Amino acid sequence: MELLRSRRDLARLPARGAGQPALVLVPTMGALHAGHLSLVEQARAWGTVVVSIFVNPLQFGPGEDYSHYPRDLDRDLALLQPLDVAAVFAPDAADIFPRQDAVTVSPGPAARFLCGASRPGHFQGVLTVVAKLLHLVQPQVAVFGRKDAQQCLVIAEMVRDLDFPVRLVDLPTVREPDGLAMSSRNAYLSIEERRRAGCLSEALQQARQALARGERLTDRLREILRSRLAAADQVEYAEVCRVPDLQIPHEATGHLLLAAAVRIGRTRLIDNLVVRVSATGIRDVPLLAAGESEP
Ligand code: AMP
Repeated sequence: MELLRSRRDLARLPARGAGQPALVLVPTMGALHAGHLSLVEQARAWGTVVVSIFVNPLQFGPGEDYSHYPRDLDRDLALLQPLDVAAVFAPDAADIFPRQDAVTVSPGPAARFLCGASRPGHFQGVLTVVAKLLHLVQPQVAVFGRKDAQQCLVIAEMVRDLDFPVRLVDLPTVREPDGLAMSSRNAYLSIEERRRAGCLSEALQQARQALARGERLTDRLREILRSRLAAADQVEYAEVCRVPDLQIPHEATGHLLLAAAVRIGRTRLIDNLVVRVSATGIRDVPLLAAGESEP
């Protein structure tokens, strides 16, 4: 496993091109957990895996946790070592963003809602770093977690509208035994907060069950989500949206994202379920069309 600490080290990336396996990028901010490792393991099916570890300053707002975000490169490398990873790209912030006042990527319409409404500038920061990582590493495939569903959709809009030559894949959310989606931020929770955090995945499951029972009114599904989130200290949003445009339908059918963001103590947690509701029932599906086909 090559450790690439700067953009200059990228000369040591595995060869790509005719006759070579595809290069597959798994972007992360480190503090790796089983969710990240599952992305890495599944990414191998698409080709030679490169993992990036970079805590992106641009995607944190003022007062958010950029300076406290957990960083432990040695631990992350030890977790990746047993997996079949060709290279880890772990540059410094100054190497990726040498200028303060630089060009950024302006997100498309999918960034207006949900997290985009409550975190101004967040998706601009995400797209700017993802665009740079895609240009620097030049993978043929990039793998993202469905856990950050809106991020996947916003990146897919950029890749489509700015003609990035990359295929995007979204992979399922890995959860703790009680259903809590794995997240580097779960480490911030006290024991009491960790217990209450279970309400997030439970609320989404309750809404999914209501859909399975035939409930189709978005307003009613939103009420179910909100009522089951009573243990949270604040509900930032709890919504049923259409995929991929994130508009809110009156009737909940077709490709849907059930999504919520809450605060438990000072920790902000997000989670979602992606489903397709049709006359024959409800099933869990990927967000992006490319994820539906096998590698
Ligand atoms: P992050 O380090 O939080 O930027 O996440 C890096 C990648 O891992 C993103 O594509 C996330 O969506 C994905 N990811 C984070 N948590 C999970 C999880 N619990 N299950 C699957 N993927 C995840």
